Amino acid sequence: MKIHEYQAKQLFREAGIPVPEGIIAKTADEAVAAFEKLDRPLVVVKSQIHAGGRGKGRFKEHPDQAGVVLARSAEEVRENAERMLGSTLVTIQTGEEGKQVNTLFIEQGLDIAKELYLGCVIDREAGGPVMILSTEGGMEIEVVAEKSPEKILSEPFSIHTGLLGFQARKLAFKLGMEGKTVRSAEKFFCQLSRFFVDNDCSMTEINPLVITGEGDLVALDAKVTFDDNALFRHKPFDELRDLTEEDPAEVAAGNAGLSYVKLDGNIGCLVNGAGLAMSTMDLIKHHGGEPANFLDVGGGANVDQVTEAFRIILADENVKAVLVNIFGGIMKCDTIVTALLEAYEKVGFTVPLVVRLEGTNVEVARKMLSESGRDIISATDLTDAAQKVVATLSS
Ligand code: ADP
Ligand code: MG
Repeated sequence: MKIHEYQAKQLFREAGIPVPEGIIAKTADEAVAAFEKLDRPLVVVKSQIHAGGRGKGRFKEHPDQAGVVLARSAEEVRENAERMLGSTLVTIQTGEEGKQVNTLFIEQGLDIAKELYLGCVIDREAGGPVMILSTEGGMEIEVVAEKSPEKILSEPFSIHTGLLGFQARKLAFKLGMEGKTVRSAEKFFCQLSRFFVDNDCSMTEINPLVITGEGDLVALDAKVTFDDNALFRHKPFDELRDLTEEDPAEVAAGNAGLSYVKLDGNIGCLVNGAGLAMSTMDLIKHHGGEPANFLDVGGGANVDQVTEAFRIILADENVKAVLVNIFGGIMKCDTIVTALLEAYEKVGFTVPLVVRLEGTNVEVARKMLSESGRDIISATDLTDAAQKVVATLSS
């Protein structure tokens, strides 16, 4: 789960990680009020969307308007806020369709002496979290990694202790810091590593992390992603969720306890078990088709879940055929067919449906299917199913 910059900065503040002062605004009037409340000569008006690259991004409705701008007066704040709110911001991370800006963050403008990059991620090779640092602040880390990998430092840290003092100082020296800045960095890096672990983050990125004219470190940007599988341990984060930023089909699937990922193809897939779902997608591709989604109804799906699953698949207008692939282990095949027939009645099918069943009670289930009178193509094994579903598209 991703959260907005202003939310991440609030969490940083609570964890003792230095951030600039800022106030959110949902209207131009609120933006001006925030400017007056901050009472600073310089503020930054920042679009809040779940994507980076806002500074270089532009609005569809206002091609000259950037997603992050500096402002020195109430008028400037108002003019920018009016153009930004309700408009669609396109950045390298949003894709062409862009994202609508509904909230602005009005923030104190900082005196920047130097911009750095700081990130924490889980690294498979290290088998745990690593802190990544670079002197190339403000640039995308992927670009730095490609063009000048020697400028990237990475340091694994323990989930029990967080980054240790000596590790933080080593990094600070490698970045060329001196005196008071080293102490500021040590505290900053260690606190951020604790933040990452304590909140079960899968990614925390501060780009840029700035050194101010006074030699202190401050998080100028903040991107935080929580590990969805650990969200149950952090109930308060529920409130940070912004559903307008998420794919509606994935939200509906999540609510129904289904695991769903939308893809670009035209063959909808309904499968029980993640491994089976992966191999089903592989076989569809192998036989020249393109899956429209990954959908795992889980081991113990009930009628309601299967119905919802069909509803989600069929709501995708790219879907031109559907493949159901069920292996009855704990789940009995006849239970699935009961659900499938009920879903068929409730949801209605306008595209070909291929069903492959195997496992417990498969004979009964196949009989139910053939006696249902529904226009369902049955398949005997996975290859047969993949071939049949691909064939429906060419016929
Ligand atoms: P994004 O990464 O989405 O482009 P950032 O928050 O990194 O957004 O902002 C883009 C740039 O705007 C930063 O690299 C920095 O130069 C400038 N900036 C952002 N916030 C401030 C601030 N509070 N004070 C001064 N400059 C800022
Ligand atoms: Mg940034």
